[in-house]
Amino acid sequence: MANETDTRKVVRQHGQIEQLFTGGFAVKGQSVPAAPKADSETLSAKQAQLDRIADEIRKCCKCGLGKTRTHAVPGEGNPDARIVFVGEGPGADEDAQGRPFVGRAGKLLDRIINAMGLQRKDVYICNILKCRPPENRDPKPDEIAHCLGYLQDQLEIIQPEIIVALGAHAARTLLETTKSIGHLRGQFQQYYPGLGKIPIKLMATYHPAYLLRSYSPENRRRVWDDMKTVLTELNLPVPQRGGK
Ligand code: URA
Repeated sequence: MANETDTRKVVRQHGQIEQLFTGGFAVKGQSVPAAPKADSETLSAKQAQLDRIADEIRKCCKCGLGKTRTHAVPGEGNPDARIVFVGEGPGADEDAQGRPFVGRAGKLLDRIINAMGLQRKDVYICNILKCRPPENRDPKPDEIAHCLGYLQDQLEIIQPEIIVALGAHAARTLLETTKSIGHLRGQFQQYYPGLGKIPIKLMATYHPAYLLRSYSPENRRRVWDDMKTVLTELNLPVPQRGGK
């Protein structure tokens, strides 16, 4: 019986990784719970702090995006996540729903997370910008400057072990560099939260929207390699293609 369960688990994981590589949709993740870092009291306190920041973000008018947004998109997920995924900024779907990564790129991010043996609720997902730039243009420096404090506060509360920066805007902003994503990805970088604070490991990887545009086996392999490095660092099981 135990063997049968193991076989089914391996087959399901294999299917999830194949989905990531072949482009299928509707993968259901199986949760491999990351070791809990906090008790329930601490969890509620963290959630309450994140909720306060989310309220502030929803009222924010520090830059022009406050006037053009439909909904601000503060972020969502596990307040005690070991991994925080940081994207660039909300797109049209996110602006309409007030939730991060719910459009096409979000569906691919879900598949990546599922292929890692995780679910959205295991991780935290947010963006550098909390409001959508019109026509999905690149974030402007003053918008990033006004918005970054919210992300810094979110990271300070969650205290993840690893940040995954999705795409060049997230990676360059958090690492304060102009290097290309191709140069930054593939090995851990360090995010420095501020003077006297402990640096957090950061894995930069391709943005799911870029991956959708350039859906080559090489790019998918690179993203999967980056995620395997993240799982290994966290001592989480690395699902294998072919069930090995
Ligand atoms: N792209 C991003 O960078 N963030 C989202 O939330 C959605 C798409």
